[in-house]
Amino acid sequence: VTYKVSCAHLDLVGLTGVLAVFEDVTHLEQVGQMRRDFVANVSHELRTPLTALLGFIETLQGPAREDAAARDRFLGIMAREADRMNRLVRDLLSLSHVEAQERMRPGDMVDLVDLLRATQRSLAQMAEKNAVTFDEDLPAGQVRVPGDADQLRQVFTNLIENAIKYGGHGCTVGLSLDGPAEGLGLRGAAVRVTVADSGPGIDPLHIPRLTERFYRVDSHRSREMGGTGLGLAIVKHIINRHRGRMRIDSAPGEGSRFSVILPTR
Ligand code: ADP
Repeated sequence: VTYKVSCAHLDLVGLTGVLAVFEDVTHLEQVGQMRRDFVANVSHELRTPLTALLGFIETLQGPAREDAAARDRFLGIMAREADRMNRLVRDLLSLSHVEAQERMRPGDMVDLVDLLRATQRSLAQMAEKNAVTFDEDLPAGQVRVPGDADQLRQVFTNLIENAIKYGGHGCTVGLSLDGPAEGLGLRGAAVRVTVADSGPGIDPLHIPRLTERFYRVDSHRSREMGGTGLGLAIVKHIINRHRGRMRIDSAPGEGSRFSVILPTR
């Protein structure tokens, strides 16, 4: 516990003494520490690709100047590193955007069935490249929930992208929607969207920390896959904004299931 102590000398009529006020600033200290950690993480994440870029520029200006094959290879790596920085900045902006929004615009309704189909279509090419098949179980009609369509689309894009990336080559990605129903883990009627993959699964040790910014089970693999470590932090924030919940069920060798539960009113 950290206290801030303020003292004042008192000299009232017939009464002298010292007044001390103890203020518990533990929470402020923690927020300050989190902010410092975040800035350190962002700096590190930006510096890694930047250092690589500067190194390759130097090599291209010097030893590899006349070597066409090396030049092409290095330019390919440089493009990937620049792309990584670009994605990181994009995700940081998304995160700061969802964090800054206190409340959603009231009244907007989103049809989740349409949104999930559109999200799946937009990732069809990525799935095909990884030989991933979708196993889809969505209702025929509409299922509407109050929400921000762009943000909810980002939630399901991030979850399906992760399922494709970490599920591994040839895996199956299940996409389903239950409800509206009571008893799905929220007070009142709710719907549950599940994104499941038949990949290697996640050690239970890591599960509670997956939604922390920059937390990765395997940083090398995440970076190779183009991950920024911010995807699930963004997902969590958006779901909180929608007064929903996320559940992660996974075990090594048994695939992973991410369930998003959203209220219908
Ligand atoms: P990243 O940008 O690294 O993908 P995320 O915040 O989206 O960051 O995910 C955090 C970490 O959670 C990932 O680095 C990965 O280790 C793990 N993860 C996320 N989704 C899955 C999944 N479907 N299967 C296995 N691991 C996953």
